[in-house]
Amino acid sequence: MGREVGELLFRLDGNNPVNYVLMSNIYADAGYWKERESVRELVKLKGLKKEAGQSWVEIDKEVHFFYNGDETHLLTEEIHEVLKEMERRIKEETGYAYEMRFALHDVEEESKVESLRFHSEKLAIGLALVHSGIQKGGRMIRVFKNLIVCGDCHEFIKGLSRILDKVFLVRDANRFHKFEDGFCSCRDYWRFGFGFSNG
Ligand SMILES: [Zn+2]
Ligand SMILES: [Zn+2]
Repeated sequence: MGREVGELLFRLDGNNPVNYVLMSNIYADAGYWKERESVRELVKLKGLKKEAGQSWVEIDKEVHFFYNGDETHLLTEEIHEVLKEMERRIKEETGYAYEMRFALHDVEEESKVESLRFHSEKLAIGLALVHSGIQKGGRMIRVFKNLIVCGDCHEFIKGLSRILDKVFLVRDANRFHKFEDGFCSCRDYWRFGFGFSNG
């Protein structure tokens, strides 16, 4: 079914890199490495480049943008600190552990390296946490992303919504995710749709 849908998408929207990433992920999930390689060849042949993942958050009427592994923000140190602290607490309190699998299914090799750094959606959330404080103030945190939220970050935000008294509203390229009490409103169906993972 995935193959049929993919061929349809290629015909309708053959220059949209998102469709190639989607097919590449479907083939990788199914272990169809030859097919996956042919999709990657097509991307190279057509000279398509995936849009870089970017997330943003508004704080006091000012919008802050982040790329994956972005260290240009003035509060980078504080952001990293709060994210590491949150990862530690989520691991301790919910048993969440990194899921590298999502990060490895990408069209571009550099994403594997990027996946080891903080993804843009995490950085945006980190800034919101630094700003509002972990315990009090601003129960709702709104973050936007130009691509689909990555699987690891999705798990991370679920964990955050469990250990903190906060609601996270994430608007990605595909849908709204409302994270509350350890659950997401998408019921983890974000991967089906046009979901793909690239931080
Ligand atoms: Zn979700
Ligand atoms: Zn991520």
